[in-house]
Amino acid sequence: MATYDYDIGIIGGGAAGLTVASGAAQLGAKTLLVEKEKDLGGDCLHFGCVPSKTLASAVHLFCCIGGFPMRN
Ligand SMILES: Cc1cc2nc3c(=O)[nH]c(=O)nc-3n(C[C@H](O)[C@H](O)[C@H](O)COP(=O)(O)OP(=O)(O)OC[C@H]3O[C@@H](n4cnc5c(N)ncnc54)[C@H](O)[C@@H]3O)c2cc1C
Repeated sequence: MATYDYDIGIIGGGAAGLTVASGAAQLGAKTLLVEKEKDLGGDCLHFGCVPSKTLASAVHLFCCIGGFPMRN
């Protein structure tokens, strides 16, 4: 049976898990990060913050180019 030796184990490589893993590793902890999906990043990177702000920017740009004023 395999044995593992880590100071901290983090489940989930989303915004929270990545932040904790990064901080723990910088403090010198032997850090294990487990992510069930193929890519790290979680909701913020793949579905939430980043795509929604990209879409909002694209809409804003489209409205500017088309001469349609944006309403806030
Ligand atoms: C449309 C939208 C826009 C948003 N915009 C913003 C914004 O502008 N600013 C902002 O601050 N926040 C925004 N958010 C919120 C932000 O996305 C979340 O607060 C953030 O993703 C939470 O991060 P998390 O790491 O807690 O969870 P998640 O991002 O959900 O990450 C959890 C990770 O754990 C993994 N996981 C789950 N179960 C297991 C398991 N059993 N084993 C291994 N891995 C597992 C998942 O695959 C995932 O990668 C937005 C959300 C949405 C939906």
